Amino acid sequence: MSGDSSKTFYLETFGCQMNVHDSEKVVGTLVSEGYRQVETVEEADLVLYNTCSIRDKAEQKVFNRLNDYKKYQKQGKKFGVLGCVAQQEGEKIFERAPWVSLVAGSASYRNLPGMLKQLEEVEVESAQVEKARLEIAILEAGKSASRKPGVESLVRITGLGDRETDECFETEFTARTNPHRGYITIIEGCDKFCSYCVVPYTRGKERSRTSDSVLAEARQMADLGYTEIQLLGQNVNSYKDPARKPGGKKSFAELLAAVGDIPGIRRVRFTTSHPRDFGRDIIDAIDAVPTLCDHVHLPVQSGSTRMLDAMQRLYNREQYLERIAWMKAAKREISITTDMIVGFPGETESDFAETLSLLDEVGFDAVFAFKYSPRPNTPSISLEDAIPDEEKARRLEVLMARQREIQTRRYKKYIGTTCEVMVEGRNEARGQWMGRTSHNKTLNFTAATTPTMGRYVPVIVTGSFPNSLLGELVV
Ligand code: SAM
Ligand code: SF4
Repeated sequence: MSGDSSKTFYLETFGCQMNVHDSEKVVGTLVSEGYRQVETVEEADLVLYNTCSIRDKAEQKVFNRLNDYKKYQKQGKKFGVLGCVAQQEGEKIFERAPWVSLVAGSASYRNLPGMLKQLEEVEVESAQVEKARLEIAILEAGKSASRKPGVESLVRITGLGDRETDECFETEFTARTNPHRGYITIIEGCDKFCSYCVVPYTRGKERSRTSDSVLAEARQMADLGYTEIQLLGQNVNSYKDPARKPGGKKSFAELLAAVGDIPGIRRVRFTTSHPRDFGRDIIDAIDAVPTLCDHVHLPVQSGSTRMLDAMQRLYNREQYLERIAWMKAAKREISITTDMIVGFPGETESDFAETLSLLDEVGFDAVFAFKYSPRPNTPSISLEDAIPDEEKARRLEVLMARQREIQTRRYKKYIGTTCEVMVEGRNEARGQWMGRTSHNKTLNFTAATTPTMGRYVPVIVTGSFPNSLLGELVV
């Protein structure tokens, strides 16, 4: 169907930034194959879901959505499941949602054009078979018969990447929606095998892109007018250039600094860092290169060394705090954010108290906290999930309340200071503009003159909330 722009697709994305960026590549790939993206399921011939399986709730959301849209199968639409649920569940998805035609795991996107062609060819063949069946039925019945469309897809195409793959999903067809800031994947997969996590099973083993290809993509983005780049990976700190040449960029810190030095690039962010591999050289790079944002997301998961051991995180509380001390000694104040899991099997009140005390000790600028969710294939699935859901919910609430107090104090201290923000949006109802600081804080502001989207402007902070700042454009 290549070149036939009458073929339309709708794509919905669940999950993390990696998935959001994968979707940008999937959109680019489909458009290069002659498809046209549409805004609603109703308009689409092909409906795709890029899925997340990090927690059970995320996975349920995908199946609920597929159920909601089952009715459209009768209109001849085709459904495809992409991403981590596709990789994890594979062909079982066809049993659970028989109206699905395509299952493409996160490690198989390179084969997407081939899978689409197969889908179109089989589609044509099955339409012919259906037509022939109908004609026989009409002949046999000797009267007119109407086709009763079932909800079972006649076409089933599966693409499941192998965990051992060396392939990265690099494509020249990335369809970025934001014209000012964009993602670049530098490393795919994960070799850490934290005991609770599905990622090593869904995204395969770690594989870094060459620094040449990352830098070429970054330069190309700068030429197109992008000023902010976010380097992506499940564990960016274990980046290693697979084609290191003498004088080439080898480590993550070297690559980070090189991206920050590209003319036209004003901000570089990165996510996610793993404390075990987080080196002091990253702080040195932030100190040396002004375009590297003063924000580090360093997931800790728990403040208790006993729990960190059970989670197989490969560091203890003291080692985590050592990295925090490096950041606090940096030339610029670095904003620190983290992820936490409450209610991991065996977490006692005293382990949880250590997590709360870590909040006080570090003073995070944001915490993304989750109730432990047992996941298929992971080592911790064999542990008894003994902490009842109500208790997990209570701990989550206590943690977030404590963190809210910390953030309230931390955000307040910006009042009276001037922050540079990139203008990113407009809230008509409130008459405000939205921007983001280098610290990755949302700053909503009023302006006497209309600021230009994507521009960097100074804003004086006049108020604060636990999750955002308020201000006025400095003219
Ligand atoms: N690679 C990153 C790291 O090591 O922190 C993040 C990966 S994961 C997409 C994002 C967060 O989801 C993790 O940091 C963790 O807090 C949370 N998470 C992962 N598996 C989980 C599970 N089984 N139950 C609850 N939260 C989980
Ligand atoms: Fe999952 Fe751990 Fe890898 Fe992060 S480092 S993706 S939590 S296994």
